[in-house]
Amino acid sequence: MKDLIDSYPIQDEEFKWQKSCFVDELSEKVQRESCLMGWIHDFEIQNLSDRTQVLFLIFRDGTGLKEFQITKPELVKKIAILERESVIAIRTLGTKVNDLKIISQAKPVPILPCLITDHSSIDLVINRAYALRTERMKAILKIQDSIFSSVRKFFEKEKFYEIRPPIIGPATDPGIRGAKAGELDFYGKRYKLTTSMILYKQMTICSLEKIYSFSPNIRLEDHATQETGRHLAEFYQIDVEQAFADYHDAMNLGEKLLITIFKAVKRNCKKELNLLERNLIIPTRPFQKLTYKEVLEQLREMKFGDLQDGQEIPWNAEKALSELFDAPFWITDYPYGSRGFYDRQNPENPSSLKDFDLMYPGGFGEAMSGSEREYLYDKVKRKMLEQGVPLVGYKWYFDMLQRGVPPSAGFGLGVERLTRYICGLEKIWEATAFPKVP
Ligand code: AMP
Ligand code: MG
Repeated sequence: MKDLIDSYPIQDEEFKWQKSCFVDELSEKVQRESCLMGWIHDFEIQNLSDRTQVLFLIFRDGTGLKEFQITKPELVKKIAILERESVIAIRTLGTKVNDLKIISQAKPVPILPCLITDHSSIDLVINRAYALRTERMKAILKIQDSIFSSVRKFFEKEKFYEIRPPIIGPATDPGIRGAKAGELDFYGKRYKLTTSMILYKQMTICSLEKIYSFSPNIRLEDHATQETGRHLAEFYQIDVEQAFADYHDAMNLGEKLLITIFKAVKRNCKKELNLLERNLIIPTRPFQKLTYKEVLEQLREMKFGDLQDGQEIPWNAEKALSELFDAPFWITDYPYGSRGFYDRQNPENPSSLKDFDLMYPGGFGEAMSGSEREYLYDKVKRKMLEQGVPLVGYKWYFDMLQRGVPPSAGFGLGVERLTRYICGLEKIWEATAFPKVP
């Protein structure tokens, strides 16, 4: 066996087979020869007698797993020397394999998809190429695909325009709670990688009024956030903004969006939700609303007695609060000074902002953040100075604010946190194909 493995490759020569179907298209009843192409997920050989062996092959393709039996001695021998994850083509009739070709012989795989049991392990971030091949990861990514298509359908119906997001720029959102922005040098000039596209949303609503984007964010998060199970260094937001809207409009839109996504996933991904053993409950509108002040009082009565007025809600307190709920809920009206300069101060109650977070229930924590925006130049500049934001890189933004920016409201809904909640995952790094973890 060792000699054979050392003599890579043992692929069959070019052959002219045509893939005729996928695993999920095979019906037991169809007594027609099929040609499948995919991976050796696992196999086991049983000796029926001294002379006869049967090889039980678990074959995998993009659509699922299926067991076949191989009894022809020359084919049993051919598979027996292969590593799991080798790529093969098989000609089948019912559950029998009549012929097979080796397309790409695999070397031994560090973490075999067929043996993975701890799906939230950090080892699977490192060994991503193999973790991605599990039925569980396929289910998660198919659900994420359903999220994307339902978001697009929703916004088309609501007459929002999808725009391409910016990735580099002279300035980006500084209000990212302790995380750092990535930077790059381009012909001697420093640029930032987008931490959130809030400033660019304000730019675009001056043109199309109602916009959304799947926007990539790079945030060099603190190492401690690895423990939260909901921080990535690279993630996507469903970023939404509407001109002449207030924060109640934005929350209404957010509720409708979330329910539309949940319904679409339940409709389109029954098999995947079953595999993940997730019973996704569709919430009813309107979602419950608590103000920041009410939340602070509630948390102080729990084990968070030393929370100060005006302080951001710590991760562990947010998780504990979210555990008390069985449906998504809003926290509104954060205190003035606690959030980015672009969240609008409430003119009727200057100590608070016209903003909100949406929380998932069950300990999953924050789902989205949003607000009405500051749109008047003097106000924005004063708040930036108050917050000590370095003004370098913002010249274009200040110029723009003096030239016709309307009031607006919007939000950002984290794609991976949404996927994590819908799928009921312990760690956020399961909720994306290529996780970057602090
Ligand atoms: P923020 O503007 O910081 O409130 O971010 C908007 C949304 O993006 C949040 O409500 C989360 O859903 C998501 N989000 C923020 N930071 C991260 C992160 N480090 N990893 C994954 N998702 C995040
Ligand atoms: Mg937030």
